[in-house]
Amino acid sequence: MSTTATDLSPAAAAFDVRPTDVPLADAEREALMASPTFGTVFTDHMARVTWTADAGWHDRRVEKHGPLLLSPASAVLHYGQEVFEGLKGYRHADGSVWTFRPQANAARFQASARRLALPELPVEDFLGSIEALVRADRAWVPSGEETSLYLRPFMYASETFLGVRPSREAEYVVIASPVGPYFSGGVKPVSIWVAQDYHRAGPGGTGAAKCGGNYAASLLPQQAAYAQGCEQVCFLDAATNTFLEELGGMNVFVVLASGEVVTPGLNGSILEGVTRSSILTLLQEAGHAVTERPVPLAELLDGLADGTVTEVFACGTAAVVTPIGRLAGDGFDLTVAGGATGAVTSAVRTRLTDIQYGRTPDSHGWMHRLV
Ligand SMILES: *Cc1c(COP(=O)(O)O)cnc(C)c1O
Repeated sequence: MSTTATDLSPAAAAFDVRPTDVPLADAEREALMASPTFGTVFTDHMARVTWTADAGWHDRRVEKHGPLLLSPASAVLHYGQEVFEGLKGYRHADGSVWTFRPQANAARFQASARRLALPELPVEDFLGSIEALVRADRAWVPSGEETSLYLRPFMYASETFLGVRPSREAEYVVIASPVGPYFSGGVKPVSIWVAQDYHRAGPGGTGAAKCGGNYAASLLPQQAAYAQGCEQVCFLDAATNTFLEELGGMNVFVVLASGEVVTPGLNGSILEGVTRSSILTLLQEAGHAVTERPVPLAELLDGLADGTVTEVFACGTAAVVTPIGRLAGDGFDLTVAGGATGAVTSAVRTRLTDIQYGRTPDSHGWMHRLV
């Protein structure tokens, strides 16, 4: 059930709000929010819940955003037992603040935690933590075009113990950051390097979980992409090195001249994006045939060469829908859609952001009011 009006939900009321003694002055906050670069500016508070094997989840609180105290022997620092989420608070024209399909993020956070042998945070605590934090920091939700309050829930193994077994203590934290467009310069096509020598995930691995370790594995190939003059990496499946999987933090879609849209099917090593699933629905409603199936790189390259592939785009919460204008890799370097933003890419981006920013009715019940 989504929150109606601006009443505090019981899930958020479970959080004890301990306001910071040093909130940023209005003028300073507004200066920081004027043109936020992704992930560099943070709000006054953070939400937290602590877990121990003996006491379970406890000490729900909103407190001053600041350094975490942890032992150098904390398990997360040694074995990487950590998971995270990413969602946004959108300010609507009437001043209210909403988030998009947070139940899906809550469910995925539980699934990621299971895979990393971390405790599962109850859905109510996930939703309550976000609502409590955004209410405390409501002045930090920007109202400019394409701006939002990026929310980063995460959980890490906090037990002071070097033995190799699941941690018996964990800390759940949510931080928030006012953001503008993910890629500086706004919506413009990005260049992609297809990695053929590295993978982000493999069969039986953690690819379907949203965990820091997957990102750690993607950084060296990302560096290789920069060296090739590309901005992002697309990974292939580890088993055969022939099928497209996704970018380091975004899912990928291919638009065909026939109007059909294809995206790699969830194979256990692809992260199931909330944006991906929403776009599948929106494209279908717009009359496109949408297909989830294995997409061979060779088929994509042939399609770009002979014109049967007309657009390629990536999607995720942070970057929304991002056109791909160039696809390069070992032995190929192709321009996509003339290096411009294709019509299907543009239309689905507009449709999705219109829903998120409340410019069009939310016929799917995807929006969840926070403030
Ligand atoms: C978070 C993420 C995505 C996008 O998921 P959304 O729910 O759409 O934000 C895609 N791929 C990876 C690897 C991710 O971590």
